Amino acid sequence: NYRCRSAFKLLEMDDKYKVLKPGDVVIDCGAAPGSWTQVAVERTNANGKIERSPRGAVFSIDLLHFHAVPGATIFGGMDFTAQLAQKRLRESLAGRQVNCVLSDMAPNATGVRMLDQESITNLCYEVLRFALAMSAPQANLVIKIWDNGDVPKLERDILCYYEKLKRVKPRASRGDSSEHFLLAKGFKGAPTLTT
Ligand code: SAM
Repeated sequence: NYRCRSAFKLLEMDDKYKVLKPGDVVIDCGAAPGSWTQVAVERTNANGKIERSPRGAVFSIDLLHFHAVPGATIFGGMDFTAQLAQKRLRESLAGRQVNCVLSDMAPNATGVRMLDQESITNLCYEVLRFALAMSAPQANLVIKIWDNGDVPKLERDILCYYEKLKRVKPRASRGDSSEHFLLAKGFKGAPTLTT
């Protein structure tokens, strides 16, 4: 019983591209009402339901408050782009590296195309920057994007740090016209950041 249909997008992507496995540490950005978190908990065994299998951990954050998901640590009412939020996430990781960063975040649209494009792109770079700082070698990254002129540059930037990148449109996402996901696998390891 998933809290919303979005679950099927992640299930489909994970079935096909294997981004989650038991024992993984996952960050879920823009997680409310929590269906991706439910999927991540199941697939990483963060609730310990799969016996004799490593137990993962899922940390989920959203601007909105949402109900607990057994097995996950929830940060409700927090802006992922705020320094305080990222500090809280870092602290709860307590030195563990992340195996998969998920972002289904959608910024509030103003209706002004250029402004919206900019805030979507900023959000993606915020996720990428966090992933680069917190990920374990070979980690994965899944980010929701909308087709716009900034995407090719974002893809090139991601490919500097990950071995493989795919732009995917899960069948479950057909209704949301220009929504896509960038799915990166094989984090090459901590880069030296210049900015
Ligand atoms: N993946 C979720 C699920 O399966 O239940 C659905 C996510 S919904 C499409 C997008 C979410 O992104 C919204 O709940 C919104 O509040 C959140 N969001 C947008 N900007 C955010 C930000 N800066 N920080 C945290 N959450 C944000």
